[in-house]
Amino acid sequence: MPDWQDLIRDIPDFPKPGVVFKDITPLLADADGYAAAVDAMAAPWRGVALDAVLGIESRGFILGAALARALGTGFVPVRKPGKLPGRTLAQAYELEYGSDRLEIHADAVAPGARVLLVDDVLATGGTLCAALALARQQGATVVGASVLLEIATLQGRAQWDASVALEVGITC
Ligand code: AMP
Repeated sequence: MPDWQDLIRDIPDFPKPGVVFKDITPLLADADGYAAAVDAMAAPWRGVALDAVLGIESRGFILGAALARALGTGFVPVRKPGKLPGRTLAQAYELEYGSDRLEIHADAVAPGARVLLVDDVLATGGTLCAALALARQQGATVVGASVLLEIATLQGRAQWDASVALEVGITC
């Protein structure tokens, strides 16, 4: 079986010139690779008390829902604007390629709930920090974040570290 990391391919100049897009679709299509990736993401969090995984649209849904099952928690979607039917909280953020906004149902997470944030890629850290802000608006305790891969040159981890208490880590 190939290393699951070898199933992630680089697509240069997508969605715009200068961006190297990390395409995880070959990994997701491979049964062993997908399982190994989810196992690797879950490993640091096994035995940690968690109430919910918050998965960020859209690839954070695919990984986050699997992780929620692996860790025995509920799953809460953090979505792009206008997708959730109930009352929402919103948070704007900057992307490597543009800006956007994330929303969560205002009643999705109980105050004091222990949550894990999940996404596919950590780039500048704007997305993860927006999800962090949403979880905190709800009074949740963010136990940490799990991403499949990190583009270290974009220093997203530094933005995360500046936003959270030191003991709250990112695993990838
Ligand atoms: P950032 O907010 O800059 O950390 O960007 C992370 C978010 O944007 C994640 O939800 C990723 O899915 C997406 N993203 C950013 N850069 C890339 C990239 N080079 N390849 C794939 N996805 C990316």
